[in-house]
Amino acid sequence: MMHVRNLTKTFNETPVLDDVDLSVEKGEVLVLLGQSGSGKTTLLRCLALAEGITSGEIGFRGQLIHRRSMPDQPNFSISASEKQKLRTQIGIVFQQYNLFPHLTAIQNVALAPVHVLKVDRDVANARAKELLEMVGLGSRVDFKSHELSGGQQQRVAIARTLAMSPQLLLFDEVTSALDPQMTAEVLAVMKDIALNGTTMVVVTHEMGFAKHVGTRIVFMADGRVVESGTPTSLFENPKDDRTKEFLNAVL
Ligand code: ATP
Repeated sequence: MMHVRNLTKTFNETPVLDDVDLSVEKGEVLVLLGQSGSGKTTLLRCLALAEGITSGEIGFRGQLIHRRSMPDQPNFSISASEKQKLRTQIGIVFQQYNLFPHLTAIQNVALAPVHVLKVDRDVANARAKELLEMVGLGSRVDFKSHELSGGQQQRVAIARTLAMSPQLLLFDEVTSALDPQMTAEVLAVMKDIALNGTTMVVVTHEMGFAKHVGTRIVFMADGRVVESGTPTSLFENPKDDRTKEFLNAVL
């Protein structure tokens, strides 16, 4: 579905991603773990085609998107308009939900399909209602943000991302600002989406989700992929000392 190869990203000459190789297969729920500052968000932003790269290669659905400063290989980039189009196929949900406060839940969800994908408004509204029902908000479609709890707003944000029918869904610490009850509601929705076969990359500190919903865990430290494996192998038999130390601290 998506791959990065020899991906390096530096900010002000400080490497933040250092020679990262990662493939996300169709239907996979890949969970990215690592300490604060290990580069998880930056990697997610690269996968979302929202971040320029210093060197390496990015491909999506069999198509080369970007290649830069790779030995013996020509640089390559798709056009800005092609990239814009591909971005609509990659959904990303953040810790901050950023709903439009003057719009209702259903209006927030239907907005991009109508304006970006040019879907007929009635069709988009019907789909938005379905998605809000799916995330457990069927009775709140006409509520504005301030009338919704944080967990409910985050579920609207997830429905809004799903409304674009993304091929790949990225989650960046989407429950970090929520209390345990709201976290559980959001994780339940994410689990449903995963069980539907959606390809997902999830950055989270929720180890229960990683263990029980993740199909593969990738552990990062200092901008590098240190090790990866099934939840069982990584949680029960971590190989690298940094993974062991991280798991000891969080489990
Ligand atoms: P957290 O779990 O705290 O969100 P993370 O693993 O997602 O951390 P990143 O947010 O990817 O880590 O950040 C990795 C490193 O890159 C950090 O040291 C950060 O300060 C640095 N960094 C991120 N974005 C920028 C930027 N735009 N300019 C300069 N440095 C940046």
